[in-house]
Amino acid sequence: MPDPTAPALRYRITPVDPAAHLFEIELVVQDPDPQGQRLALPAWIPGSYMIREFARHVVAIEARGARRRLAIEKIDKHTWRAAPTTGALTVRYRVYAWDLSVRGAHLDTTHGFYNGTSVFLRVLGREDRACEVLIAPPPGAAASDWRVATTLPAARGRDGARAWGFGWHRADSYDALIDHPVEMGRFDVVTFEAGGVRHDVAITGVHDTDGARLAKDLAPVCEAQVALFEPREARAPFERYLFLVTAVGEGYGGLEHRDSTALLCARNDLPHAGLEKVTNGYRTFLGLASHEYFHSWHVKRIKPQAFAHYDLDRENYTRLLWVFEGYTSYYDDLMLARARVLEPASYLEALAGTVSAVLRSPSRLHQSIAESSFDAWIKYYRQDENAPNAVVSYYAKGALVALAIDLTVRARTGGRRSLDDLMRLLWRRYGRDFSREGSGVPEDALPALLKEATGVDLADSIARWAYGTEELPLAALLARVGVKLQANTSDRTPSLGARWAMRGHELTLTAVIHGGPAHAAGLSAGDVIVAADGVRVDDKSFKALLARRRERARLTLHVFRRDELREHVVRLGAPEPSEWKLTLAPKASHAALALRRGWLGTRA
Ligand code: ZN
Repeated sequence: MPDPTAPALRYRITPVDPAAHLFEIELVVQDPDPQGQRLALPAWIPGSYMIREFARHVVAIEARGARRRLAIEKIDKHTWRAAPTTGALTVRYRVYAWDLSVRGAHLDTTHGFYNGTSVFLRVLGREDRACEVLIAPPPGAAASDWRVATTLPAARGRDGARAWGFGWHRADSYDALIDHPVEMGRFDVVTFEAGGVRHDVAITGVHDTDGARLAKDLAPVCEAQVALFEPREARAPFERYLFLVTAVGEGYGGLEHRDSTALLCARNDLPHAGLEKVTNGYRTFLGLASHEYFHSWHVKRIKPQAFAHYDLDRENYTRLLWVFEGYTSYYDDLMLARARVLEPASYLEALAGTVSAVLRSPSRLHQSIAESSFDAWIKYYRQDENAPNAVVSYYAKGALVALAIDLTVRARTGGRRSLDDLMRLLWRRYGRDFSREGSGVPEDALPALLKEATGVDLADSIARWAYGTEELPLAALLARVGVKLQANTSDRTPSLGARWAMRGHELTLTAVIHGGPAHAAGLSAGDVIVAADGVRVDDKSFKALLARRRERARLTLHVFRRDELREHVVRLGAPEPSEWKLTLAPKASHAALALRRGWLGTRA
């Protein structure tokens, strides 16, 4: 007799063969579709807007009914259908996990990590059902000291997993099941409190992190974000929060989830014992952690309407990623300054990096960030050698549009209103009641919401900055808050109008800017430069050679295109700045200083 209180869906996941990178999953569906149950893996993972087809890593699958083995057939690239059965359906399959990124699944003899999108089959028609998941340890004694880090809640009752333990967990729906990544292995844990709730940082991989320092710096950043959205109650929107950090030699990436985030970072970016100031590497790590944490509100709870119900089979289109990723990119480093983890000068250095990245790339003049948002699936996430001409970053330029809106509102309201007011309005209307289905920010609502929150009508500006390609008036806006924006013109090297890098031992053009000298001379991305003005060059000597030339000088390049030797004569162009600097203006007015204090959250 079946237990009527047992959930209708039960998963068991076992790292069955870590050396072969294989998870085994068993799924029991108590009341399968009598027509034949369909099961599918998502084509993409929310937060990373590219079709990834996780089903390609399923390497074996079989199905059983109550008494006998059942046929199970593939009906499209990510969907299976089991033969009809009257009793419970059990499906067992293996998933190959060898993707050390925040978006997939990874398993070896040192640790395991997975997103639910890589391993848990969706039971079609049963997506709203609660389920239970047994997270089982690997077989054998070698992993007897492994622990589990996840915000997936423990199952209720006697069988529920203990803190950091293997065992039974639960999820209210399939969406919840795939929104709590899981790490297993021998990780270190750093704990602090913010917004009235416990925060843990689980660090895996070889590292020498000063945990106390990390907690000391992250806590005020989290507090500042909680206070931004909930200034009265200062209460976090989750019961606990978990940073899952994987430290590697070189790497960078983050993916947001409702109560946690998965971060991949360079171990040298983590703070070590005795570290005094915030180095550029540590600033990069803190900015990444701050970015994903901000997403707990902005995109995980406040969502574009297009994401209110994810369609996991195909692309979900919105023109608002510049708001959800761009504003988050604006606030990530700004919150470090407001939490006083970064000095204002260090914050301005980080912001100048964003300004430089946008102004260096002519793509901003050809694609709007609204278009880039819509086409993220085929362009931003799949960049090629033409990206500097054609693909603008809705992260970087979106952050600068957020800055432009923020500074405009502050200037026009004498500092009484800001972008923070819009964030709070979005939170109250679309985010706080997370369970309200179907809600989400409509595609064209932003200008009206901004006006409602601040009293400032920027509909025309937003149309030009985000839906058009007009240059942002950054220098003028920054001057209003006592900050000077200047191009670094000290480097007088004439322009080649191309980018290059060493690929192995070959100096290779990686991009050719349309309308520039290299383009005019017929050069192309992929060309391998074997000689410049008759001498062999590498990255360093080529740079030095260019620096000794003047604008309009002729430069003869011998290049291989595929295996064909070609000669091109380039007439070098005027020097072009590649870096911009932001500094605190020494003679700012009292009004500007007051606005700057409000913006950066500084006392003086
Ligand atoms: Zn993001």
